Amino acid sequence: MNVFSVDVEEWFHVCGVGGGLAPDRWHALPSRIVTTTARLLDELDAAQVTATFFVLGWVADRYPELVGRIQTAGHAIASHGYRHIRVPELCPAAFSADLSASVRALQMAGAGAITAFRAPEWSLNTRTPWAFDELVAQGFTVDASMAPVRIVGRTSYPRQPHCRMTAHGTIVEVPPFVVDRLGQVVPLGWGWALRTWQPRRVLRAIEQANRLGHPAVLTVHPWEIDDNPPRVRLPLRLHFAHYVRLSGFVDRLRILLRTAPFSTLEQVALAASSS
Ligand SMILES: [Zn+2]
Repeated sequence: MNVFSVDVEEWFHVCGVGGGLAPDRWHALPSRIVTTTARLLDELDAAQVTATFFVLGWVADRYPELVGRIQTAGHAIASHGYRHIRVPELCPAAFSADLSASVRALQMAGAGAITAFRAPEWSLNTRTPWAFDELVAQGFTVDASMAPVRIVGRTSYPRQPHCRMTAHGTIVEVPPFVVDRLGQVVPLGWGWALRTWQPRRVLRAIEQANRLGHPAVLTVHPWEIDDNPPRVRLPLRLHFAHYVRLSGFVDRLRILLRTAPFSTLEQVALAASSS
């Protein structure tokens, strides 16, 4: 019924910031991805949950054994792009090149066919319709990028999995979980809302969605369960997204993983495409 997913990127893969976190500095920053992803794999194993891992091509190139480890644990490998650049900042040709570079890196690391994509910072949506065409042209069948919230998306976007027509055929869009709260749309499936809400409240919201036949798509990053994440100065919105209530998140997540029923992205997409 529900989907658990992981965007596999380092703590320093923050969109739109330069300075010490600029891409030309990434090679010199302390890597945390192997230990934090391993910890997530342990949690998923203990909860017997199968997830989809949207792995950044940059990570796959440097840690191909990590991709193998995720696959061996029985999870699906998908693409999170190569350089973690928001889609509107790329021209169609650059998006195409970034996407194919990510697929190449994942396959060099031992992954099979890559058919699902999530854009960095939920940045693929109706503002870049050509990007859906490119995904299908490169063999993708599922996108999980369109967030029905303000700032990174629009509240008018569909909240349920659905098919979208492109120039090259259809693609299934599987949006992240949101709920209405005090007149606002809250991104309960990821980020600050998922970290901040008590597990019983998240579970109640998931149960309510499931009762209506709607799946809840949850997403975490390995850096969110880091015991000791490196701290850097970020603009207020990003500071909030990256640092609010990290403490104890792994314990709250464990409750969600062991209580909510999870299916796979593939199953949820299949149900959407056949309905
Ligand atoms: Zn990302």
